Amino acid sequence: MIKALDFPTDAQATLTVNLKAIVDNYKRCRALAGGTDCAAMVKADAYGMGIEQVAPVLYHKAGCRIFFVANLTEAITLRSFVPESTIYVLNGFFPGHGEYFTRHNIRPVLNDLDQIRLWAEMTPEARPPCAVHFDTGINRLGLTPAETDLFIKDIALRSQLDIALVMSHLACSDDRLNPLNARQLADFTAITRHFPDIPASLANSGGILLGPDYHFDLVRPGLLMFGGNPGKHTIPERIRPAFRITGKILQIRQLETGQSVGYGSTWTADRPCHIATINIGYADGYLQVFNNCGQAFAKGTLLPIVGRVSMDMIAVDVTDIEIGTGSDVELLGEHITLEMASEVSTLSQYEILTGVRERYQRIYK
Ligand SMILES: *Cc1c(COP(=O)(O)O)cnc(C)c1O
Repeated sequence: MIKALDFPTDAQATLTVNLKAIVDNYKRCRALAGGTDCAAMVKADAYGMGIEQVAPVLYHKAGCRIFFVANLTEAITLRSFVPESTIYVLNGFFPGHGEYFTRHNIRPVLNDLDQIRLWAEMTPEARPPCAVHFDTGINRLGLTPAETDLFIKDIALRSQLDIALVMSHLACSDDRLNPLNARQLADFTAITRHFPDIPASLANSGGILLGPDYHFDLVRPGLLMFGGNPGKHTIPERIRPAFRITGKILQIRQLETGQSVGYGSTWTADRPCHIATINIGYADGYLQVFNNCGQAFAKGTLLPIVGRVSMDMIAVDVTDIEIGTGSDVELLGEHITLEMASEVSTLSQYEILTGVRERYQRIYK
């Protein structure tokens, strides 16, 4: 018999995912949406946090019954974790995929008339219900306004489908002052009037915060569930970061004024200082956009990242605190929020979150 490999628990940097916080944030989203139904966006491995762990707790502990993923492969994987739930595939429906949708009881989000016709040709008895996505201004996926008009008039085609949801997606929900929000709302509202008995959905996280007009019958938060802030406004009360990344101090170096740190010597000490080397680098998803501008947190203090991010390491100025080798330093989480990391790096909160790589020891609480 082969013995399972045995590793020490403290040899890697750590990603701690707080499943309770995700459940609480999901419930908070539902409350913010005034009791309309609430789906969970779990595409891209639940925004990098682990769909295998995240989806079942949302189902069992938060009562979530509707999940969206990007592609059919994600959906088939998800089906094994939440056997009873409704699963939608945002990317649409393509030739040869019908039997997979049917076998796993997965619903496509149909994005153009070709996809709608292809879906309509399938045997109705075997076919799950579908969603239809109308593009109201993002110009990405969904029926164009011209296709939308054709589809609304095509009673014969519509009658062949079992449409369970009509939806659209906001382009600028992170900016409540952007006039496109109201235009998309008006256009989507007009579309929904042609589908009076079918549930409608428009709002992602940012859309939830735009207010009740945007909520319709189903909201679709992603970022808010993980504790990110979808807008420039203050984050809603009782939404909290659902994850924490900590690195370990491998070594601490005393530097004299004038000595530099890291590849390219891009940072030079302007006082005698203590520089800690931490076991997280760009191979973990902590990218070089954080060179000389990222922040870490330990002992109640914000600490600057100094020099360039290396593949496996970063350097942090710990001169102002008492700390030793082997101690943990937070790179993202409660004290270094996605908002803060996004602001210094110009990466979006979504990119930082989904950029988290595999090398971390993962702990689910
Ligand atoms: C990703 C996505 C969402 C969730 O967006 P967040 O801003 O993370 O809440 C909702 N709807 C669609 C169509 C999406 O692609």
